Amino acid sequence: MESYVFYQGEILEESKVNISIRSKAFNYGLGCFEGIRAYWDEEAQQLYAFRLKEHYQRLLESCKALYIQIPYTAEELCEWTLVLLRKNNFKTTVYIRPVAFKGSDHLFPTLYDDDNRILIYCQPMGNFAGKEAFRAAVSTWRRISDTMLPPRTKATAAYLNSALASLEALQNGYDEAILLTDQGYVCEGPGENIFLVKNGKLITPSPADHILEGITRNTVMVLAKEELGLEIVERSVARTELYSAQEVFFSGTAMEVTPVIEVDNRKVGNGEQGEVCREIKKLFFGLTTGRNLKYAHFCTPVY
Ligand code: PMP
Repeated sequence: MESYVFYQGEILEESKVNISIRSKAFNYGLGCFEGIRAYWDEEAQQLYAFRLKEHYQRLLESCKALYIQIPYTAEELCEWTLVLLRKNNFKTTVYIRPVAFKGSDHLFPTLYDDDNRILIYCQPMGNFAGKEAFRAAVSTWRRISDTMLPPRTKATAAYLNSALASLEALQNGYDEAILLTDQGYVCEGPGENIFLVKNGKLITPSPADHILEGITRNTVMVLAKEELGLEIVERSVARTELYSAQEVFFSGTAMEVTPVIEVDNRKVGNGEQGEVCREIKKLFFGLTTGRNLKYAHFCTPVY
């Protein structure tokens, strides 16, 4: 059955969307996007979009930085997303992908033209990583910095940096890359933020170290503080701290919360998922379907 998408103010069958091979989005990556999940609750027969408004706020911030003008508010984009999910009648956990971009087929990579477009598509998504735990390696590729290509936006073009790091990690026999900043501090994974646990503290690179401020990262920090009473430290993290940490884990919309059990051929802790990661995961999956009333405001029912 054909999937429905949102494109330029309408819900259409996916095959009806016509985007030029000359478009700047395709030729130069002049666009930005979001990645959102909606979680299916089998028992309640209900789908819940997770932190929907925050994702659209971040999309609009990316658009502003990249000079892409979109004629919708975050609230309107949330509404369209709910309409789209209902139209597709999903009864499973799904990944939602809004993309805002320059559609013009004028040859040069200019951001000032006014052919701004937005589309949203969705697809079922379970455990994206396909693994319960990761072996990671520090990449020889450095993460883009704010003076090059703003990492706090989800700019389409920035994912070439991510893809190169992932390729290197996979070709060297690891599951995932860890990128350092241009200054040599730990930044993030290709599509996820990173946390370390050391002596009862949860440590994570600060926004000044060119990370994308992940919405899952924020959820993890809220849970660690509110539910586990952990001290959270946002600061620059040196590479070798990854070796001495008791735990390392990733967080992200697609990745959710995934332990890193090995970094650069060194076991993290005892080489198994740690206690903090296990607890955070349990708490995280306990709130994605609106069952934890304290955090029900994170979840928007679709049906
Ligand atoms: N860093 C990068 C580079 C990402 O692409 C993502 C995924 N959006 C994240 C971190 C995690 O962000 P979030 O938790 O909002 O998905």
